[in-house]
Amino acid sequence: MSEAGKIDALFVGAHRDDVEITCGGTLRKLVEFGYKVAILDLTRGEMGSRGSAELREQEADCAAGVLGAYKRINLGLPDAFIENTAENRLKAVKIIRELQPYLLVLPYPEQRHPDHRKTPELIYDACHLAGLKKVDNDGLEPHRPGKILYSTSFLDIKPSIVIDITEQIEKKLEAVACYQSQFKPDPNEVVVYPPAFDIFEFIKNDALKYGYKIRTKYAEPFVIKEAVKVDDPMKLDVPSI
Ligand SMILES: [Zn+2]
Repeated sequence: MSEAGKIDALFVGAHRDDVEITCGGTLRKLVEFGYKVAILDLTRGEMGSRGSAELREQEADCAAGVLGAYKRINLGLPDAFIENTAENRLKAVKIIRELQPYLLVLPYPEQRHPDHRKTPELIYDACHLAGLKKVDNDGLEPHRPGKILYSTSFLDIKPSIVIDITEQIEKKLEAVACYQSQFKPDPNEVVVYPPAFDIFEFIKNDALKYGYKIRTKYAEPFVIKEAVKVDDPMKLDVPSI
């Protein structure tokens, strides 16, 4: 467990609802385990077709409350124009050093939306800088997260691990429902996720697909770039035959 003011896990999204939709069940599960979890959104969502930055802030606070996040931070980068610049890396370095997370959850880098591609690159590079003593940033101690999970929900990527969120799916859907400006049906508005006329069905279907793979009901997939260490293969779950 973390010291006072520090956190155990940091979930990062480009936009305010990304974390909830892709890995909100896992976030909630960590909270239920007793870990201190924070959310970092890189942008305020001012370029979104629906809603405003102000409205999405209220919705984001609602969702963080539902999931039980310890805090939610916004880096204030320009929506739809996230760039991996030195200035932006240093903004992220400050957050990483302040919060000192062990676990970092990032979007998987190969994605359609440029912000979703730039976010993991920017944060990964910032984590490297955050560990360098000579990179100064308000006198904070150097820190690098110990482990990175890349969230692959809705992507056609074979996951390294799949986390059971059967007990957390309702809280996940409740958190996404906070984003009324994005997902409340309105015939006069564009549909944010065109294939998903109902975002909640979309989320449940994706979670069911991964739940099936580990013989549970709902789950979320992640890629880990390093090998996954196992001490006792006799305790490996999920039948092979
Ligand atoms: Zn997004």
